[in-house]
Amino acid sequence: MSEQHMKAARWYRARDIRVEQIEVPTLGDPHQVKVKVAACGICGSDLHEYAAGPIFIPVDSPHPLSHDQAPIVMGHEFAGEVVEVGSAVTRVAVGDRVAIEPILSPHRDGAYLMERYNLSPQLGFHGLSGGGGGFAEYTVVASTWYIGCPMRSSMSRAHWSSLPRSACMRCARVRSRRATARWCSAPARSG
Ligand SMILES: [Zn+2]
Repeated sequence: MSEQHMKAARWYRARDIRVEQIEVPTLGDPHQVKVKVAACGICGSDLHEYAAGPIFIPVDSPHPLSHDQAPIVMGHEFAGEVVEVGSAVTRVAVGDRVAIEPILSPHRDGAYLMERYNLSPQLGFHGLSGGGGGFAEYTVVASTWYIGCPMRSSMSRAHWSSLPRSACMRCARVRSRRATARWCSAPARSG
């Protein structure tokens, strides 16, 4: 792998997901964070997109927030290590382990515009709606999206921490931020 390219799995159409070389993403604004993916789950939504999609993946027109459409990198339940931060990011630093809340909802200056951002009509998901995803070596996420994980958590366990906040459209619509943050901050055993 060159420094500018990485391996990623991209959805083209039902039963057509290709592992290919694409450009390593770069930070697009000062509130973004670049993550080296360590582990990514395969969600039931991913299976449905593969078997009978598109369901959520934008095909005929770009998603209004990601401005992206198929082919898109899949993978929305993942954890990794921060490798680069924008100049306005203060909550994490290079080297931190993070699990990702992959919700696309209108935001500005590193903050969601809606308190119940998971109920936005424009709701989308990193890894389903374009803009990158966890089925790649690196991805760039908004600073609103990450959850710090205990350093002793293994990355394969940490990606499960992202599940309550990301686990599919239906789950994301009903879970509260406080409840899921508490879940994530529960003691985790290494393993
Ligand atoms: Zn999911």
